[in-house]
Amino acid sequence: MTGKKKKTSEYVTEKTRKEFASYVEHPRYGRYPHYTGENPQNDYVDIHLHWRLKPEFCIANTAVAADLSRQSEALFPVTYYYDEKRICRDCDKPFIFFAQEQKHWYEDLGFFIDADCVRCIHCRKKEQWLARQKQRYDEFFHNTDRTADETLKMVDCCLTLIEEGIFTMKQEKQVRTLINSVKEQYAQQCAQLLERLNILKSVEEITDEEKEKS
Ligand SMILES: [Zn+2]
Repeated sequence: MTGKKKKTSEYVTEKTRKEFASYVEHPRYGRYPHYTGENPQNDYVDIHLHWRLKPEFCIANTAVAADLSRQSEALFPVTYYYDEKRICRDCDKPFIFFAQEQKHWYEDLGFFIDADCVRCIHCRKKEQWLARQKQRYDEFFHNTDRTADETLKMVDCCLTLIEEGIFTMKQEKQVRTLINSVKEQYAQQCAQLLERLNILKSVEEITDEEKEKS
């Protein structure tokens, strides 16, 4: 590096704030780039940047040196991470895959260097949450002596998974059967669950009508 390095605060200008105003805020790293004043370029001898790092996504002056002894073994180890601009695959919102976050992924968590970040932090959390809902549903499903309370929880899980587009309305009959099996003990909860199911049913009917029209 040549010349005097600027401090982070000198880079986060009004222009930067405007540019990144719509970016998804990360609870740990925030919304704005973390300027380090480091801007190394590939020389393929001492400096290897990530193969996927395209100039249009790379945020200048944000490089963080990698610790190669902590990276999982790769043919071309990455010697510097940069803050990278990304668009979330699920919600289409822009976000930054931070250099510090990459260091955490590849050096603390042991992720393979090719592992990429394609979703914003909110969608990643949601994905994990949905995976847990699905796992929970499977556990209820395989439990042959479910209590009425567990049956209610199973219906709730199933409705959530339909609402999130993981399950389809093919589950409708099963959901109705489950609700009917416990409606005497839990009349009020069952009425609420049926209401959710009926909303999903009417959404499905509207969608079907639209499909027929087009
Ligand atoms: Zn997202």
